[in-house]
Amino acid sequence: MTIHLEASVEPIVEGEQEIAAMLKELNPPALIMSIVHMSGDASVLTRWPSPKIIDVVEASSQSVELLEGGYTKEQGESICEYALEVIRDYRANDCKLPQLNDEVMDQLLDFMCGHHLDDEYRAFIREEIALDGIDQRGLRFDSEAGRQRATQFPVVIIGAGMGGVLAAIRLRQAGVPFIVIEKNSAVGGTWFENHYPGCRVDVPGHSYSYSFEPNHDWECYYPLAEDIRAYFDSCADRYGVKSHIRFNSEVVQASFDDNSQRWQVQVKNSDGQLETLEACAVISAVGQLNRPKLPDIPGRDSFAGPLFHSAAWPDGVSLEGKRVAVIGSGASAFQIIPELAKTAASLKLFQRSPVWMFPNPVYHDKVSTAQRWALKKLPYYSKWYRFWLFYVSIEGVYDKTLVDENWHSENSVSQSNDDMRKLLSAWIESQLSDPALLEKVLPDYPPFGKRILQDNGTYLAALQRDNVELLTEGIERIDARGLVTTDGSLHEVDVIVCATGFHADRFLFPMRVTGRQGIELSDQWGENNGRAFLGMTVPNFPNLFCIYGPNTNLVVAGSIAHNAESQVNYILRCIKLLLENNYAAMDCRQAVHDQYNQRVDEINAGTAWGSPAVSNWYKNDQGRVTANLPFRIIDYWRMTKEPNPEDYHFN
Ligand code: NAP
Repeated sequence: MTIHLEASVEPIVEGEQEIAAMLKELNPPALIMSIVHMSGDASVLTRWPSPKIIDVVEASSQSVELLEGGYTKEQGESICEYALEVIRDYRANDCKLPQLNDEVMDQLLDFMCGHHLDDEYRAFIREEIALDGIDQRGLRFDSEAGRQRATQFPVVIIGAGMGGVLAAIRLRQAGVPFIVIEKNSAVGGTWFENHYPGCRVDVPGHSYSYSFEPNHDWECYYPLAEDIRAYFDSCADRYGVKSHIRFNSEVVQASFDDNSQRWQVQVKNSDGQLETLEACAVISAVGQLNRPKLPDIPGRDSFAGPLFHSAAWPDGVSLEGKRVAVIGSGASAFQIIPELAKTAASLKLFQRSPVWMFPNPVYHDKVSTAQRWALKKLPYYSKWYRFWLFYVSIEGVYDKTLVDENWHSENSVSQSNDDMRKLLSAWIESQLSDPALLEKVLPDYPPFGKRILQDNGTYLAALQRDNVELLTEGIERIDARGLVTTDGSLHEVDVIVCATGFHADRFLFPMRVTGRQGIELSDQWGENNGRAFLGMTVPNFPNLFCIYGPNTNLVVAGSIAHNAESQVNYILRCIKLLLENNYAAMDCRQAVHDQYNQRVDEINAGTAWGSPAVSNWYKNDQGRVTANLPFRIIDYWRMTKEPNPEDYHFN
C-alpha cells in the first residue's frame, strides 16, 4: 500500500504586474522547473543552460553578479518573461496541470543537475522530492498478517525532537503501537531546549523539515529556534502523535529480557514515580547534543552571580546593562555574542579556538513575500526549491573535506581545502581593520576541522564594539567576582554564560542500557566510544534502534532531516522484516558491525575533521571521530534503503 502526499497548490489570484514583480525574486532553477510542470513542454529546457552550483570560491572571482544557479541578469529576465506567459496560459486553462511522463521527469532531473544522472541518483532524488506524490519512505503493511502482528508490537521511542516525532509519525502510519517518552515539557528536542538569544538553525529552513511536510511559512530563510520548535509541534499535532507523548518523563534504564525477547523500559514519570513499560523494540531519538557540558574550571561553583549553560538559558533573564562573560566561541556563542553585545554593559568573550565562518548575506533575512507566494502557488516550485537547497549542499563540498596525502600543510588538507581557506580568510580579513584582532580570530586549522558557521558579518561587527572584548588567555579559575586568566588578570562580571558544548561523545548517556545476557552498553562502548552498524543497531542489543546515533552527524552532506528520514526508513523496514517473518528479535552480527566501523574510522581519519592536528566535539578523548558520518549522503541513503537480513541474527 502506498502513502500519497497531499498536493497543496493554492490558486494564483494576483494580477500580472504583481506576478511579474514577484517572479524576479524567485530561485531561477526552481522557476524553470515549474514552467515545465505548468506547460508540459520540456523543449523549453533548451532556452537556458542548466543551473550551475557557483561555489563561493568561483563566485568571488566573477566580474558580474550572478543569480542563483549561476544565471546572468539577462538570462534571469528571459526566464521571468517566459514564466509569465506560461502562468497566463496555465490560468486560462483553469490551472490544469499536464501529465508529465517519466522521460520528461528524467529530463528535468538531468537539467537541474547539469548532467546525465545514473539510475541510482535518479531514484535517490525522486524519493526525496516525491514528484509523483508517493511517499516512498512511509510504510503500510500489505498483508493482513503483517497488520495484525504490528498491533502486538509495542515500541518505546525515547525523545520527541526531530527524530522521535518522525519515528512516531511513521509508526502510526504503519499501525504499530508506540509511546514517546520525553524528558521536557514539550515537543522539539534541541529546539525546545536551546532558546538563547539569537538561536537559529544554520541550514536553510526549506530543507530543514520533513520531506512529506513542507513548511511554506518559515519567517526566515534560516529559521529561529522557536519557529522550528513550533514546526515540530505542529507536525506532532497534525499527524496525530501528540497524545502518544508522555512529557516530563525520562527513561532511566532499558533492559532486554532474553526470555521474553522484549525490552523492559524503566521510566521516571513526571510525579517522580518509576514505572516499567514493556516493549518489543526501543527507538532512541535522544540526539547527540542534548546533555550540556559545563567547563571543568576550578572554582566554577564559587561564582556569586548567575552562571549557566547556553542550552539551559534561564527564562526571563535579562542581561541588559550587565557585565557578561561568555566562555566558548563555537556555534552557540557565535549566535549569542551579537545579541548580547547590543545591550550588555560589557561583554567579554573567552575564546579558546577561533571559528571559520562562511559568507552568507541572507543568514538573518526574512523570506520574501514573493518566495512564499511561489512556494504556495507555483506548481512544484517548492519541491524543486527544496531540491536545489539540498543539491547545492551535497555536491562539490564533500571533496573539499578529504585529505590529500600528498598535501603537506598545517592549515589545509588539500588544494581545494586550501582554496576554501583562502576565501574564508579573505572574508574574515575584509571585516576587520585591527591586525591584533585579526590574528586572534583567524583559525590556523583547516576549514571543516570544526563546524563552519554561517555569517552575515554580525559576529565580527559585535567583536569590534566598544563594549566587547575578545580574550584568548586561558581561564585559570573562577571566583566569586569573575574569571581569572592565566596572565593573572581578574575579569569581574555579573553573569557567566558557558557556551561550552555538549557531552556529544556519550551516546544514550545517562540512561543505563542492558542487552542480551546482561551486557551493559556502557561496558561494550566504554564511556565515550559509541559504535553502531549504520549508526543505528548494536550487537547484543536486539531491537534497539538509534536515530542520530554514533557516526551519523553531518558536516557537509545535506540536511540532518534527510538523514533522520533515511534512518527511520531503515528502522521501519527492520520492523517489517521482523513482523512479516514472525521473528521476535534481530541482533546485528558482530562481524558486520566491525567491518562497517572499520570503514567509518578509515574514511573519517582521512578528513579535515579527523585530522590529528584538529580538536573538535566530533572526536572522543582518544581522538576517534565518534560523531560524524564519513560518507556521501547518497551512499548512506543506499545503505539504509532496506535492511539486509544477512546482517542480523534473528530469534
Ligand atoms: P561547541 O561547538 O562544542 O563549542 C564549544 C566552545 O566552548 C568551543 O569554542 C570550545 O573551545 C569552548 N570550550 C569548551 N570547553 C571549554 C573550557 N573548559 N574552557 C574554555 N573554552 C571551552 O558547542 P556549541 O557552540 O554549543 O555547538 C555544538 C554544536 O551544536 C555545533 O557544532 C552545531 O552542530 C550545533 N549547533 C548548531 C547551531 C545552529 O544550527 N545554528 C547553533 C548552535 C549549536 P574549543 O573549540 O577550543 O574546544
